[in-house]
Amino acid sequence: MRIAYQYRLRPTKSQSAQMETWLNLLRMQYNYRLAERFRWWDENRCPINACPLVCSIAPLADQPEYYGQKRDLVQTKTKFPEYIDIYSDVLQDCIGRVKKTFDRFLKADSSGKRSGRPRFKQRSRYRSFTYPRMKAGCIRDKHITLPKIGEVKLIQHRPIPEGFTIKTCTVVHKADGWYVTLSLCDDTVPTISPDVNQEKAVGIDLGLKDFLVTSDNETVPIPQFARSSERRRKVLNKALSRKRKKGTKRRQIAGKRLSKHYQKVARQRKDFHYKVANWLVRKYDIIAHEDLNIKGLAKTRLSKSILDAGWGEFIDLVRLKAESAGRLTVAVNPSGTTQNCSGCGINVPKTLADRWHSCSCGLELDRDLNAAINIKNLSECVAGVPPVVATRVAVGHWVNKAHRLLCSSRIG
Ligand SMILES: [Zn+2]
Repeated sequence: MRIAYQYRLRPTKSQSAQMETWLNLLRMQYNYRLAERFRWWDENRCPINACPLVCSIAPLADQPEYYGQKRDLVQTKTKFPEYIDIYSDVLQDCIGRVKKTFDRFLKADSSGKRSGRPRFKQRSRYRSFTYPRMKAGCIRDKHITLPKIGEVKLIQHRPIPEGFTIKTCTVVHKADGWYVTLSLCDDTVPTISPDVNQEKAVGIDLGLKDFLVTSDNETVPIPQFARSSERRRKVLNKALSRKRKKGTKRRQIAGKRLSKHYQKVARQRKDFHYKVANWLVRKYDIIAHEDLNIKGLAKTRLSKSILDAGWGEFIDLVRLKAESAGRLTVAVNPSGTTQNCSGCGINVPKTLADRWHSCSCGLELDRDLNAAINIKNLSECVAGVPPVVATRVAVGHWVNKAHRLLCSSRIG
């Protein structure tokens, strides 16, 4: 089992200056190695159908690859002695990052996703370095020993769980200071296999009116953190753009204020997500949600509100929490969950403005609740769970009927 803990660091002035220098050198190394790879591609690739039959072919240069670039670090150190000060594992990890980003650019990963062309990083985009191996017992009385940096004061707000060993350690520079992320591993702890009570199933419908509605007709209001603090953001943004001259102290301060504001909003949202996810996982054994295409939704007119709600992050968190608690999450196909009647299964067209579901079969309920019940019913088909006698649900007998219809329509 692998988990990550993050602690705040309190480095001394000289330590933080050293880490800042490292980040800058590593960033330059990253950019250089990336350029090396790009150059090879530009100079040595030839579209075969556009190549003349008779031509002089220059000997093919060696393609920069992971181990070659790693070996070349020796040259870097002789040419630029400042790189000697960086711990060699950290420097090699930087090459690893180049490899990772370039590989993902060239080839899709296992889920078929390919990333775009890697970017050269400016100062604000290279914020962390990693020690891929850490010694046991590197944390001792409120200090962590980072090789070549020394003992750095650490605020250990919670102890490292028993039996876990520290595998890797990443030092991150955030808007409000330095943090350390430890990757902890315990091979003796098996991953919990889901042991669920099928009666404790729930469907959740994520929305913009309420953050979510459960199939038991419970609603969680939406906080809209970014929306409510938009005025402050505008003020800060304006203050920054008024300070035109780049690199000045005043502009730096204004930039820092703005990034701290963003950090605060992000943290508020994260805290809210954790609270809701924990509540769901404690209460239910099976949690069904829509398999949303967040990237697609974020291109619509509602993108600001959708991104502010952070559905994608929330769903990931629910999955994670459920997995570690031995619960089950089911993603269902979102098509028709809003439009179909949860009572009889027929299509009842609605626009986004129609908040009420009213069907010819006599079923009357809130549209989001209708969707949540549909999601729950669909999850039973997906997970192969036998239909639950839905006595707790307000609309009673409708649910089973809808379930039968929906399942038959899906299989047929
Ligand atoms: Zn109906």
